Amino acid sequence: MKTLLEVENLSVSFDVYGGEVQAVRDISFEVKEGEAVAIVGESGSGKSVTAQTIMRLIQMPPGKIKSGSVKLGELDLLKLSEKEMRKVRGDQIGMIFQDPMTSLNPTMTVGKQIMEGLVQHQRLSGVMAKARVIELLTMVGIPNPETRLNQYPHQFSGGMRQRVMIAIALACNPFLLIADEPTTALDVTIQAQILTLMKDLQKRLNTSIILITHDLGIVADLCDRVLVMYAGQIVETGTKREIFRNPKHPYTKGLLKSLPRLDQDKSEPLIPIFGTPPDLIKPPQGCGFCSRCEFAMTICETQVPDMTELSTTQSVRCWLQHPYAKQTDSSGGKGA
Ligand code: SF4
Ligand code: MG
Repeated sequence: MKTLLEVENLSVSFDVYGGEVQAVRDISFEVKEGEAVAIVGESGSGKSVTAQTIMRLIQMPPGKIKSGSVKLGELDLLKLSEKEMRKVRGDQIGMIFQDPMTSLNPTMTVGKQIMEGLVQHQRLSGVMAKARVIELLTMVGIPNPETRLNQYPHQFSGGMRQRVMIAIALACNPFLLIADEPTTALDVTIQAQILTLMKDLQKRLNTSIILITHDLGIVADLCDRVLVMYAGQIVETGTKREIFRNPKHPYTKGLLKSLPRLDQDKSEPLIPIFGTPPDLIKPPQGCGFCSRCEFAMTICETQVPDMTELSTTQSVRCWLQHPYAKQTDSSGGKGA
């Protein structure tokens, strides 16, 4: 598979009262053509900032890109002018946000909103654009599209509005769809429908997806590969199977233990991850997860582990898996 998106050594900060929040700290990853990648982590882990940086939606200042590059094919997105970037947004990368009500314009019919991108990016005539809107509404499962296109967002349910957002995001056949918590505002049955829809469309259109979520549970169906973020860093990456069956980072294991499972014995309690993430104005000198980790060793407090490759697809940022520490540190875990 060809690489579609390549993020390299990206660091993003925000100036706030009291200092500089290092929201994203030197992350690198790629997304292949047609691949669905999940970025998972608690709020404040840097996942939304990563998505917004790819889309160049970070407000600067207070935000600043400290280092790194974001390449979409041959394009270096961080070097494009705002005008060039507007062409990329919508045309090459589509985006779906958590709350469709705030991203849709309440005073404009749904049909007009879908049409905007088509007219702007694809220069379709009015008649052609309308036909395409009907096609898109049908594709995302909205019944009676001829009537619905003349209605306003408030006339749609939450789930239907998110379908409209997906139609807008996919209108120009983008290579990449970025979905930031796309189902968080919806109830569980509707969540499942939206995820199924995204999965079907992804397979049908061969669009790559970056799905951002705090909920590992919704990743299982949709994604091929998972990146786990913690305190602005990627702490583990792997195929869906590796992350679910054989997680190696204590934080990934914690996320999985806090997840309800259908096959779970009711007497087996869900275990939350205790503690809070570190202050990213002053990130810890060692491993970011140290203060919450039951396996923390002496070395964890002073040195950040780099990523250790466990297979061609799985890597982890943890001293427990690091060949150097395995040889030299025998202090054992806090919990041992
Ligand atoms: Fe825990 Fe140390 Fe691994 Fe960090 S590096 S997750 S503190 S064992
Ligand atoms: Mg977020």
